[in-house]
Amino acid sequence: MNLAIFGATGSIGASTLDVVARHPARYRAFALTARSRVDELEELCRRHRPRYAVLSGVSPGAGHSRRFAALGVELLFGAEALETIARHPQTHTVMAAIVGAAGLASTLAAVSAGKRVLVANKEALVMAGPLVMRAARESGAQIVPVDSEHNAVFQCFSEKKFVRKVMLTASGGPFRGAPLESLKGVTPEQACAHPNWSMGRKISVDSATMMNKGLEVIEARWLFDVAPERIEVLIHPQSIVHALVEYADGSVIAQLSNPDMRVPIANALAYPERIDSGARPLDLSLARNLSFERPDPVRFPCLPLAYDALRAGGTAPAVLNAANEVAVEAFLARRLAFTAIAGVIADVLAAVPPRPAQTLADVMEADARARNEAQQRVMALAA
Ligand code: NAD
Ligand code: MG
Repeated sequence: MNLAIFGATGSIGASTLDVVARHPARYRAFALTARSRVDELEELCRRHRPRYAVLSGVSPGAGHSRRFAALGVELLFGAEALETIARHPQTHTVMAAIVGAAGLASTLAAVSAGKRVLVANKEALVMAGPLVMRAARESGAQIVPVDSEHNAVFQCFSEKKFVRKVMLTASGGPFRGAPLESLKGVTPEQACAHPNWSMGRKISVDSATMMNKGLEVIEARWLFDVAPERIEVLIHPQSIVHALVEYADGSVIAQLSNPDMRVPIANALAYPERIDSGARPLDLSLARNLSFERPDPVRFPCLPLAYDALRAGGTAPAVLNAANEVAVEAFLARRLAFTAIAGVIADVLAAVPPRPAQTLADVMEADARARNEAQQRVMALAA
């Protein structure tokens, strides 16, 4: 089965290639993409020998092609090349693992082309959930969630009409127990040092603010077509129970595993079959204690902002996402305090009123406006 991995040089990309390499007779890395890290992409091509490689953030004049040709790999350039691969007749499955809004167009292209699409790129569903799900209905694309909580819900979900509640768990990140006064001075290194998961920098900061869970509430709303008031978040510091689904009769079904993204990736790749993921088996006698608590909205103000945006509807989630991306980037560049992230997002949501999000153009326009507003606020705060 031919697999295209969008964002192959990232954390999800690496875990996907690890699972794929365990099953060489079953999966072939058909295309691998990166934004600009040419040496890393070349190394992956040396190991996995795909048919195509894409440098989506590099223009064609930049050379490099000969190095890849020596490996038998055709190198393509620019963001359009992602869409070419998404639609390629020999692409069977796409792993959408680009981080941020940059992943929307290629995810939507793969869905519109009727491919099997394994969605890690949650921002695409946050920005344009209704558009992505409608495209899947029209094209017959199969969307399988990779985000661990959503893959867990996917595994626990039966008929929607019997579902009372969907519960997503959150670890609480590195600052769950830190004194509130200390959060102002936290550094990018501290924010990216997640206690249970090793991930890319953007999602690590999102986990520390809990915007990650806010984005996931929105993602769940569209993936499973459940109303926002039926989606709850529980802090579960051990990261062993990934999500729970409560049914009308009071039964609650949960999915458990050690925190290792290869578990949901293997599930998404093989569904409805099951394959070895390489993850360590769960030993509950070692876990000892599984605890759950409600998140504190004062410590984690980004979570209520995400619910607000979801309820406001239309372009509001795209505005939330864009403002968050700008604020997180500024924090990672040490231009914005950790505790200022939520304020920037709240201000941008107030400044850019929601409009209907009927088309991709509506979403991209809201994204651009929100980025502009957020940049101005970041600059004002830095001055
Ligand atoms: P990462 O930063 O480790 O990797 C990002 C990948 O995207 C890289 O291959 C990079 O080259 C590519 N990329 C970045 N910007 C790009 C651009 N502008 N155009 C094209 N490609 C670009 O990120 P990650 O942690 O692997 O996360 C990827 C996605 O999966 C995110 O949406 C994240 O929320 C989601 N996710 C990640 C995890 C995890 O454990 N890492 C878990 C759940 C969901
Ligand atoms: Mg998750």
